[in-house]
Amino acid sequence: MKIVLASNNKHKIKEFKDILKGIEILSLNDIGFNDDIIEDGETFLENALIKAKTVSKYLKSRGLNYTVLADDSGLCVNSLDGNPGIYSARYAGNHDDKANRDLLIKNLSDKEDKSAYFICLIVKYNIDGTYDYYEGKTMGKIISEERGKTDFGYDCIFLSNDLNKTFGEATEEEKNSVSHRKRALNKLLYSKETL
Ligand code: IMP
Repeated sequence: MKIVLASNNKHKIKEFKDILKGIEILSLNDIGFNDDIIEDGETFLENALIKAKTVSKYLKSRGLNYTVLADDSGLCVNSLDGNPGIYSARYAGNHDDKANRDLLIKNLSDKEDKSAYFICLIVKYNIDGTYDYYEGKTMGKIISEERGKTDFGYDCIFLSNDLNKTFGEATEEEKNSVSHRKRALNKLLYSKETL
């Protein structure tokens, strides 16, 4: 069976393929979808739904009836009212991870509570227009100096409660064992719904 994942991110596609073994996962490239999707929702769920619906409509217009998976994720900091939240990728104005981290550290400098969590929302958009969604969270706190790999988002300043090290210091396996995305994916996998 085939399912479309509304993403071209290689890392994400691999993660989905690894856990949804036996199901053929098609990326946006695979289905020839090249448009930009404007994610202007106000919640993670709304943004994941916008992606899923857009791709499902595109498939239908080509006579293809595939279930679509879409995810949206981000970092929520409790003392900043859940920010950067849905704005995680562009917190400092553009898609610059280092600038985003610096701004977050600055905004947190006078806050005592540095607790935060990553959240991932996965939507399974069915052929008949109904949908299910699965949420995964992972808890930690924001530290003011970068530790470990700096190549992805807020990893190097997120001190994981589960791992007692930053996601930047963790190996891929360690991070995957506790990550928000893996937890949402596990719920999808073990849900009673059939894919
Ligand atoms: P996306 O919805 O998965 O593309 O994530 C949006 C943004 O949230 C990313 O650009 C990162 O800034 C942040 N983010 C989401 N997940 C992670 C993670 O596992 N580590 C670090 N940053 C993340």
